[in-house]
Amino acid sequence: MPEDTSPARAVHELIRDELALDGNSSQNLATFCTTWAEPEVHELMDLCLDKNMIDKDEYPQTAEIESRCVRIIGDLWNAPTAATPSSTTGPTAADPSGTGSPTGCSTTGSSEAGMLGGLALKWRWRKRREAAGLPTDRPNLVCGPVQVCWEKFARYFDVELRQVPLEPDATGLRPHQLRDHVDENTIGVVAILGVTYTCDYEPVAEIAAELDAIERDTGLDVPIHVDAASGGFIAPFLHPEVAWDFRLPRVASINASGHKYGMAPLGVGWVVWRAAELLPEELVFRVSYLGGDMPTFALNFSRPGGEVVAQYYTFLRLGREGYRKVYEAASRTARSLAEQIGDTDGFRLLYDGQGALPAVSWTLSDPRRSPFTLYDLTERLRLRGWQVPAYPLPADRQETVVQRVLIRHGIGFDKIALLGQDIRAAVAELSEGPCAAAPRPGFHH
Ligand SMILES: *Cc1c(COP(=O)(O)O)cnc(C)c1O
Repeated sequence: MPEDTSPARAVHELIRDELALDGNSSQNLATFCTTWAEPEVHELMDLCLDKNMIDKDEYPQTAEIESRCVRIIGDLWNAPTAATPSSTTGPTAADPSGTGSPTGCSTTGSSEAGMLGGLALKWRWRKRREAAGLPTDRPNLVCGPVQVCWEKFARYFDVELRQVPLEPDATGLRPHQLRDHVDENTIGVVAILGVTYTCDYEPVAEIAAELDAIERDTGLDVPIHVDAASGGFIAPFLHPEVAWDFRLPRVASINASGHKYGMAPLGVGWVVWRAAELLPEELVFRVSYLGGDMPTFALNFSRPGGEVVAQYYTFLRLGREGYRKVYEAASRTARSLAEQIGDTDGFRLLYDGQGALPAVSWTLSDPRRSPFTLYDLTERLRLRGWQVPAYPLPADRQETVVQRVLIRHGIGFDKIALLGQDIRAAVAELSEGPCAAAPRPGFHH
C-alpha cells in the first residue's frame, strides 16, 4: 500500500488498464455465469451499493424483494402453496404462520445454497436417527458426477460422499445404480439438473421412482435435493413437461444459481424447501442486534443486496415469455453448433443441445488415431480469444476427454457461426501435423 493518496482518475485508469489483461468474457464459452447485463441492471447495482442483505431491519424493502423472489422461484418450481397446508408442526421461526408453504433464501451462489440444502438433510436425518436411538456418526450423501461444491460440503460438514461411478455412455446418475449405494445412513440423494461435465439433466423423476421402490422394499425413506444450479432457470421455460421439481413429493429442496441462467449479475443463488417444516429450526438463527428480530439461515453474514434486486428486475423485465424467448434462441444456437461439430470428421457429440441446457459437449471419436488432442484444440482456439475448455470426465471415465460450449444471453447465433469457422480452421491446421503449423509468413510493416 502506498504512503500517499493518488488522484482517483489516475488510479482508476491504472487498474482499468491492468484488467484489460483478463480474458474477454463475451468469448468465455466455459462459464455458465452471466456476462451480459442491461444498462438498467448496472444502474440498480449502483443504487444498491450500500445495501446489506443481512441488515433486514435497516433495508426492509430489499428484504421484501428477496422474499418475493423466493415466492416467484417457488412458483416456477411448482412448490405446493399455503392453500394446501401440510405442516404438522405448527408455527416455527422459519414458518411463522405454520402453513407449511415453501421457504427459502438468497445466497452467494449455488455452492452456499447447496450446502444449506445439505445441512438441512443432515439435521433431519440425525433427528430421525436420534429419536429411534440409532447411531448418527456415519452420515452419507449419494450422488453422481457432482460439481465440486458437493465435495466441499461433504468434507466441511463431515459427511461421506458416495459418488456413484459414471457408466459407459451415461451422462449422469442412472436410477438403477442407487440400490447399491443407499442405506440407513443416507441423508439424501443429490440429483443434478444440468450435469457440469455433460450439460444433460439427470432423470430426477426416475430417480424419485427408484427411491420409492427402495422405500417399499426396505423401509428407507431417502429425500432428494435437486442441484439445479444451471437447469433451474432453463427447465421451467424450455421443458415444462419434465417433472424434476416439487411436483415430485420426494424432492425436499432445490438450489439454483441466479447468476447463471437466472441472468442476474454474479453473486446470487437460491435455495427453496418444499415446506418450511423441512428446514430444521436449529439451523435458523435469530439476530436482534441489528434492530429487528429476523430469522436468517446463511453461511455468510454481510452480503450485497444489489444482486438480489437485479434478479427481481430480471424477473419483472423478462417475465416468463422473455426467459422462454432468450433460451429458445440459445437452444437454437446450441443446436446449430452441434450440427457443425457433428459434421466435422473426428468428433463425436456427447450432448447435442436438445432436451436440457443450451450447450454442446463432444469428444474425439477416436482419440488414439487423432492427430491432435482436444487440449491442442483448446489452445488453438485461444489464439482467437475463444475459451473452450477441454477436461476429463469424472472418476471411472476419466480417460475420456471432452470439450464443452455453453450458450447464454449475449452469446448469439452469429458469434457461434464465427466460432464454428474457427474450429474448422483449427482442425484443418492441427490435422496437418505440428510442422505445418510452424512456419508462417512473418510480420510486414
Ligand atoms: C455452477 C454449479 C454449482 C456451483 O454454483 P455457484 O453458483 O458457482 O456457487 C453447483 N452445482 C452445479 C451443477 C453447477 O453447475
